[in-house]
Amino acid sequence: MALRLSFYGGAGKVTGSNFLIEGARGKVLVDCGIEQGADFCEECVYGPFPYDVKTIDALVLTHAHLDHVGRIPKLVRDGFRGKIYMTPPTKDLAELILRDSVGILGEEAKRRGTPPLYEEQDVDRTFSLIETLEYHTEKEVAPGLSVYLRNVGHILGSASVRITDDGGVTVALTGDIGNSPSPLLPDWEPVPDADALVMESVYGDRLHPPQAERVTALRDTLKRAIAKGGTILIPAFSLERTQLMLYELSNFFDAGELQKIPVFLDSPLAIKVTAVYEKWGPTYFKPETEDEIKREGSVFEFPFLKHTLSRGESEAIEKVPGPKIIIAGAGMSHGGRIGRWEARYLPDHSSTLIIVGYQAPGSPGRRMMEGASSVRLNGAEVQIKAMVENLEGWSAHADRDGLLAFAEAALAEKRPKVIFTAIGEPAAERFLAQRIHDYLGARAVAPEMGQTWEITKDSVKKI
Ligand SMILES: [Zn+2]
Repeated sequence: MALRLSFYGGAGKVTGSNFLIEGARGKVLVDCGIEQGADFCEECVYGPFPYDVKTIDALVLTHAHLDHVGRIPKLVRDGFRGKIYMTPPTKDLAELILRDSVGILGEEAKRRGTPPLYEEQDVDRTFSLIETLEYHTEKEVAPGLSVYLRNVGHILGSASVRITDDGGVTVALTGDIGNSPSPLLPDWEPVPDADALVMESVYGDRLHPPQAERVTALRDTLKRAIAKGGTILIPAFSLERTQLMLYELSNFFDAGELQKIPVFLDSPLAIKVTAVYEKWGPTYFKPETEDEIKREGSVFEFPFLKHTLSRGESEAIEKVPGPKIIIAGAGMSHGGRIGRWEARYLPDHSSTLIIVGYQAPGSPGRRMMEGASSVRLNGAEVQIKAMVENLEGWSAHADRDGLLAFAEAALAEKRPKVIFTAIGEPAAERFLAQRIHDYLGARAVAPEMGQTWEITKDSVKKI
């Protein structure tokens, strides 16, 4: 018995996760993401899939980020009719993320003068194919192939995927690995039973600052910003980062560590995502946080927090005098409601911009982080007089040492014959592979796009 594993996305790239696993009788895809930012290319996003879509039996998702789910409606449009498996929280989050992306793709299509990658009806058809699967439940999803999901601690509902053929050969894929410990999610679970393991390597060659320092730094920065009396802007990704910010703010206010000031969650997507976190938190968060929910009702709500869903509610924020906090997307200040607030408040000395997420080179957020005196926002050049604070350590990805610990745990029992370091920039993937080899004495390979490997109980080889 043997499994064949092909890398059709997320090899030498951070985004566009897409892996094909073929057994003797069945075929399963893991993730079907979109290439974003520097990885974007016309052919890899809009071009045909490099396999016959109609012959795939099932798709399994690791988590709801767009770079893992963003091309599923295209897969369905191109003829995929199998079932799509994911955890219940991932289903709710993926629906929000995919419906949100329809609008963005529509605008992009208008700019390009081409048809959109997919439309609302493709997302509807996608959701008619979904079946949810809980963690720790073995499920046959294709002839001769079964799937088993484990918590991987990255975002709510995120899972590593283990696929086993009827001869007992296993391959496991991590998707993105969490920056454990998280205040919300349980730590990632080890994957100790794979013949071959595909793991992410986004931060394979970098360390995050110590986690203990990040909460103190956030609190101290907020204190300074509040003392200035102006508006505090936090551009945040809607999924996970926003909820982490709300959780920490709630703790600060409850503990009396911060002056109670109005906080606005000014992002329709983030408001809806937070509702999904409220829905599944009581059963998917770590036990301590679930206890907190039982005591407090919610870990994301606090007095003076206002969700501004409608445009009218959003515009009314301007009438509220400072100090006040506005959390809004986009996370790299490249559009969304935050752009309007930045244009309005950043020319003001009393304002503070707090950056808590990755800022891609060239993005407005990156330029402000690097001290630009003016930045183009919302179609106009905006003078930056506000204080700009960059807080590190809030990533949802494990860093170099976290990834090595994950690899070590995977090697503890049934030693994988190979660990593939994927989902990273080529240098990070190669660095992590070298480190796994040098520190743990295991075979590790940074795979290349389009490669196919054959995995048996005795060997793993490129074919
Ligand atoms: Zn992710």
